Amino acid sequence: MTKLQGGFLRSLYRRNDVPPESVRLCFCVLLFVSFPLGVSASCVDVQGQKRQGGLIHGKVAAGSSVTLDGSALQVLPGGEFVAGFGRDAPANATLSVHSAETRCTQKLTIASREYNIQRVEGVPQKTVTPSKEHQARIAREQALVRAAKGQRLQRPDLLQEALAGFSWPAVGPISGVYGSQRIYNGKPGSPHYGVDVALPTGSPVLAPSAGVVTLAERDLFFSGGTVILDHGYGLSSSFLHMSKVSVAVGQELQRGDLIGEIGATGRATGPHLDWRMSWREERIDPQLLVPPMPQAASVSAAASP
Ligand SMILES: [Zn+2]
Repeated sequence: MTKLQGGFLRSLYRRNDVPPESVRLCFCVLLFVSFPLGVSASCVDVQGQKRQGGLIHGKVAAGSSVTLDGSALQVLPGGEFVAGFGRDAPANATLSVHSAETRCTQKLTIASREYNIQRVEGVPQKTVTPSKEHQARIAREQALVRAAKGQRLQRPDLLQEALAGFSWPAVGPISGVYGSQRIYNGKPGSPHYGVDVALPTGSPVLAPSAGVVTLAERDLFFSGGTVILDHGYGLSSSFLHMSKVSVAVGQELQRGDLIGEIGATGRATGPHLDWRMSWREERIDPQLLVPPMPQAASVSAAASP
């Protein structure tokens, strides 16, 4: 206890009556400073990957509210919540839980990652330096994708299945990983946010978990044949470069259902599936949510980003 606090307390005891408003206010502020709300270990048990590109989840008493760095998370009727960390997420995050009984905050340490640089030669030059017309098309398509991801379907059953773990949508050699800094035909581009699985055109792409289709487009400028599958509460998967799209918007898929076929549409040099995941606006790493790629499939990787 500081000298100042001691002085205030003594003066309050001595007076033995209701202190004036200003003193009471100061007293409250000092109490707040003396006993901050950080009960870190007992606040909430956070599961998942506390690292860049990772997805975390936890469970609080039903009816509690949860914030991450001050922004409110959706809490499921059963008390579960989920949150993701982007490629360049800062090292520290603060989780706060507030209910009738509890009010606590917890510091999370987010592990940083090293990303490699991947040079990709031979993609169509129009996808590296798009013309004015193409730029307008790109903007239209980005709005479509944003709208699809922005739906935030409230389906606890879908999210709970997703949190139990994903399956690989295609099993084959991994030819690109999350986070790489990409250089296309010599020109630095945006980082790669998906995991690439190189397989021949026509190979099936299967739903890695249950979800509702919120976007099904045959020919987007960068991503070609593209499907977005919503897993609920801001979590979604995207499947890019497909030669065939076999689903329609609004369709509900179970794990293992056919989404489409692998292709090389959009900005690609050869047939592969690019599987991406988002939580709200954060791109997360799908590879952190699946078991390791089966060994036999991962040999003889043909690089086809
Ligand atoms: Zn890719």
